[in-house]
Amino acid sequence: MSNTQSRNQALFERAQQTIPGGVNSPVRAFRSVGGTPRFVERAEGPYFWDADGRRYIDYIGSWGPMILGHVHPEVLDAVQRVLSKGFSFGAPTEAEIEIAEEICKIVPSMEQVRMVSSGTEATMSALRLARGFTKRDRIVKFEGCYHGHADSLLVKAGSGLLTFGNPTSAGVPVDIAKHTTVLEYNNVAALEEAFKAFGDEIAAVIIEPVAGNMNLVKASPAFIGALRSLCTKHGAVLIFDEVMCGFRVGLKGAQALYGIEADMVCLGKVIGGGMPAAAFGGRREIMDHLAPNGTVYQAGTLSGNPVAVAAGLKMLQLIQAPGFYDRLTAQTARLAQGLTEAAHEAKVPFVADSVGGMFGLYFAEKVPTSFAEVTKSDVSRFNRFFHQMLDAGVYFAPSAYEAGFVSIKHDDAIIDETIAAARRAFAEA
Ligand SMILES: *Cc1c(COP(=O)(O)O)cnc(C)c1O
Repeated sequence: MSNTQSRNQALFERAQQTIPGGVNSPVRAFRSVGGTPRFVERAEGPYFWDADGRRYIDYIGSWGPMILGHVHPEVLDAVQRVLSKGFSFGAPTEAEIEIAEEICKIVPSMEQVRMVSSGTEATMSALRLARGFTKRDRIVKFEGCYHGHADSLLVKAGSGLLTFGNPTSAGVPVDIAKHTTVLEYNNVAALEEAFKAFGDEIAAVIIEPVAGNMNLVKASPAFIGALRSLCTKHGAVLIFDEVMCGFRVGLKGAQALYGIEADMVCLGKVIGGGMPAAAFGGRREIMDHLAPNGTVYQAGTLSGNPVAVAAGLKMLQLIQAPGFYDRLTAQTARLAQGLTEAAHEAKVPFVADSVGGMFGLYFAEKVPTSFAEVTKSDVSRFNRFFHQMLDAGVYFAPSAYEAGFVSIKHDDAIIDETIAAARRAFAEA
């Protein structure tokens, strides 16, 4: 055990010499839960192994992409096949057409799609396109939703509805943040008020229709319905940021879940099968404004590269297997139910919830519906639970404000092992 700690610890100390904070993305540093990050050496199916060969049941799956489990043999084979033919060309390939056709076939409302290399690029490009299309500047987003780290999106609410948004990161100019209005998630009245005040200035409303970056929070059907009709009425582009919930809440994503069509959709995570790929797309009328056809500029050296496309395409084929989402949804619900029951047996105020292959864990009496409610959960109790589970070989997201992910390889035995570990953790209190 102390040996296990020491190698992860040694790597973490070494990493901090040459990498800011020792990590290439902040949540990996364990700052909110404390302790030493686990350095991953390899992964397979539902598991990964850390620097000392310790095995964990993996409930983050690279934050969503590994929906088939790690190192799926058919995805591995697809990647290996294209690698020997060239890594990247900066010129078009037939496989790019195939993945575009597949995405437009699966995802409702998507008539055209452009590939990029990260979710951040997808949302940033979608916003620019919406602004170019509408010839308006103002963006509306919702508190607790994360849309990548573009300047316009690292913004929190000002002191009142009609005040300017404020940057949440140093380095974001106030002059950029002021074009972004931040509203409360699931608050229909605030939405109506905002559209009444400046509806005709709004280029786009961007939302995680099932939010996975403030723990798991579902939009109410009434809220999504109001959003759709207000955007239509005022000519604002409705952007569903499904980088996380796309191919997760169901094959066709949140649009099918709510029975609502967005004007544009951003995809990422699952779409690359673990390789850097993301996409944005939507109605042809909007997408036609993109260069080279239109006046909105967007480009990428590695966009649609053959390796990422091969992984993504194989992934999209495999998740269309009959019964895939029924099974994924059932396994995830089994986990959420089992954890909730185990907590209640131990009289711990805790509840878990799930949608498709995503879940949320809340040290609270009920499932939250907004960021303000999420922040009322017991974070210190979560942090203790996180470490109890880590010690038992179960790796949950290292933050009380992140969703969890189940893969198709998380079978009954693995879910039951997780619930048993949680039962011991809850009893220890
Ligand atoms: C992860 C995520 C992004 C950003 O994607 P990156 O690939 O990390 O840049 C954007 N939106 C949502 C909803 C996400 O979950």
